[in-house]
Amino acid sequence: MANQSRLKKDIETLRHISEPCNGGVTRIGLTATYRQGVEYLKQQMQEIGLIIKEDDVGNVYGILLGKDPALPSIVSGSHLDTVRNSGAFDGIAGVVCALEAVRILKENNIQLSHSVEVLATVEEEGTHFGTVLLGSRFISGEFSEQDKDRLYNDRGNSLREVLTDYLGHRVVQPAFRAPESIKAFLELHDEQGPVLEATNIDIGIVDSIVAIQQMVITITGFAGHAGTVPMTLRQDAGVAGCLFVTELNRFILRQYADSATLTVGKFSLQPNSANCIPNQCQFTLDIRSGDAKILEDIDRYIHQQALLIQQECNTAFDINNISYKSPVVMNEALRQLIIHSCEKLNLSYRHMNSGAGHDAMIMAGVCPSAMLFVPCYKGITHHPDENVTWENMAKGTEVLFHTMIALDQS
Ligand SMILES: [Zn+2]
Repeated sequence: MANQSRLKKDIETLRHISEPCNGGVTRIGLTATYRQGVEYLKQQMQEIGLIIKEDDVGNVYGILLGKDPALPSIVSGSHLDTVRNSGAFDGIAGVVCALEAVRILKENNIQLSHSVEVLATVEEEGTHFGTVLLGSRFISGEFSEQDKDRLYNDRGNSLREVLTDYLGHRVVQPAFRAPESIKAFLELHDEQGPVLEATNIDIGIVDSIVAIQQMVITITGFAGHAGTVPMTLRQDAGVAGCLFVTELNRFILRQYADSATLTVGKFSLQPNSANCIPNQCQFTLDIRSGDAKILEDIDRYIHQQALLIQQECNTAFDINNISYKSPVVMNEALRQLIIHSCEKLNLSYRHMNSGAGHDAMIMAGVCPSAMLFVPCYKGITHHPDENVTWENMAKGTEVLFHTMIALDQS
């Protein structure tokens, strides 16, 4: 059984290893504060007899050796860094629960055939070098030696310089992991959304890390006096923008309420004056779904509606695709093992997508990877009030523990 007081001790100790901030945790990758966090983690790993390894970009492993060293490892973990003034669970929960799962293996004298590695990745949040998922991108080989000279922090120091300072004289291994060295990667994370708590479900099985489409839409109309241009003769870009956003929002609620999200995070009018008809309306669209086909369908709808509304409002629509990230589907066999573990433990679960990026999406390029979510208080994250109950931390740990054993036998 997972020990809630040990989970609490690890989380609370790490919560206090922070730069001074406004009630939250600030432990940015590859800083002196981060080093303190890593040293605490290594100490816990050492206490249960794990072999500790650090790589040349600051990822940390605690390894419980398996019976057969020729077999690839089962790796579980998440990131140990935070954004500024963050909560204590984002990322950290995945490291602490993986460590606790290994503690239970040790306590019960269970030696698996495969080695189990607890992994704490570095700079997942990208706060120090402006590049998210930094540690795992070096593990996957997406980043290599030359990227250490390409990436700079805002003080003008290269990643290589910062690493030289951060690692000192420690003996480190190369960050890159050959795919054949890892059997599977399991990442526990808090949900960072409200669904599990609101529906009173213990575990979220992540099917996909969503595809993200970002667009900027610019609508051009014609400016005019608010009092003198009759309604029927207007080319109001603001009205066109509002109609468009309303229609698109209704479409997604009607067709894809559970499978896609739409966010209009920026919306601006020109000349932005109370007595002037807007001649320009510009806004962003952030559309996410675990299914690339749904994004294609929404894209079709966007172009259709743009044509209709530009006619209706006598305006011109310009649709500009800013970025597209493909969805990353989690490994089906691993998801099944996690589901079996939930059933074995009598825990309720539901399938869901992750609307946020995680190390698992990078690790999926290296080895079979899967994620499980534990409920978090009101979905609050990147905020000091982020909270996961100790009971839910323990449930998540036990799912990891059983999944490690099942994986070993699979
Ligand atoms: Zn995270």
